[in-house]
Amino acid sequence: MPNFSLPDEVFLRAAEQFPTPFHLYDEQGIRNRARALNKAFSWCGDFREYFAVKALPNPAVLRILKEEGCGLDCSSATELTLAEACGFSGEEIILSANAMPPEEFSQARALGAYVNLDDISDIETLRTHGGIPECICLRYNPGGQFSIGNMIMGNPGEAKYGFTLSQLKEGLSVLKELGIKAFGLHAFLSSNTRDEGYYPALAETLMSLGKELAAEKGLRFAFADLSGGIGIPYRPEDPEPDVAAIGEGVRRVYEKLFPQGGVGIKTELGRWMTGPVGWLVTRVVHEKKIYRDYIGTDASAVNLMRPAMYGAYHHITVCGKRDLPADHVYDITGSLCENNDKFAIERKLPEIRIGDLLVIHDTGAHGWAMGYNYNGRTRSAEILYTREGGYRMIRRAETAADYFATLDIDPAGEKLTGRK
Ligand SMILES: *Cc1c(COP(=O)(O)O)cnc(C)c1O
Repeated sequence: MPNFSLPDEVFLRAAEQFPTPFHLYDEQGIRNRARALNKAFSWCGDFREYFAVKALPNPAVLRILKEEGCGLDCSSATELTLAEACGFSGEEIILSANAMPPEEFSQARALGAYVNLDDISDIETLRTHGGIPECICLRYNPGGQFSIGNMIMGNPGEAKYGFTLSQLKEGLSVLKELGIKAFGLHAFLSSNTRDEGYYPALAETLMSLGKELAAEKGLRFAFADLSGGIGIPYRPEDPEPDVAAIGEGVRRVYEKLFPQGGVGIKTELGRWMTGPVGWLVTRVVHEKKIYRDYIGTDASAVNLMRPAMYGAYHHITVCGKRDLPADHVYDITGSLCENNDKFAIERKLPEIRIGDLLVIHDTGAHGWAMGYNYNGRTRSAEILYTREGGYRMIRRAETAADYFATLDIDPAGEKLTGRK
């Protein structure tokens, strides 16, 4: 079931203060989720969540997560800069990327961040760009299919990430020569999975491998990084994965393999942390009836790409009409000249009128962040619904001037940006 923790009132009041569309995030909700995760892993003396910045790269949100004890998982130079600007440093940061520019290694090392190597060739790149640290993380790709029981959870054999097993062994030997004392192992084998067995199965894979490689190479196995991948209930019929049960499942694996402790656990959840505590709020501006009934909104796929890109389901409610019967069928669209610009297709909803406020649920991760400027449309503002029950604009909406800011020759651009 999507998250209905905020009453319509909260969205209606926000829309009186700020022009639509905007993403609204619930500060208390973010804190609650961070606390639930930390509690689920509190049995581990060395646990930390490294929030995946790419999911919701807003400084206000990152600072809230810092207050809740989280670190950050960064995937680019810009995200490292953002992390530093928000007060994160050293071991509070992990750089995890793929085919990245070598300078990003140097930047991560200068910050004292953990580096998660994606490929065996990255060892030489890191050696010459920032140097090899004492403790390093390696990303593992077991290949084939990743299954729990007879359920296929993912297809690592088709994924671009990570080292093969033989590369891990060779890589650790090279890294030992270069001076490492300890290593962590990372893998991301299944995305948006609500199966409570995923993390425990992944923990088993990484920890048994880590134990074996540590013995073989004479190195210390420092941590397992379970990365992201825990899913959320986008659809009304979806159950919410129980994070306490997930933590418990990982604990059982841990205590079996490392009864004396001494190994850390890291997670890099993005979607699970903030997905359900963000909503895209948009106004109905148009209706047309042809072969179907189309409701046009002032938001579009540039504000939320997941439905267009993945055919993803996002629950939609009409403010003030939650209790009315869903006796109409609509396609809810944006304005892009692109027929996949639909937030919902043949969705049953109460009767919608122009001017109604729509709330699109579960946009708090991979929502604003995946925005783009197709059709000259611009990204929306982000609003924080604070613990005190107030509203804070934590990112203004883009304007046409932002769109023209990277252009030199457009006369309209000169006028708009004031450049000569
Ligand atoms: C995207 C990503 C995450 C977060 O994934 P979610 O599905 O949002 O949990 C974590 N770690 C890495 C390396 C990623 O690329």
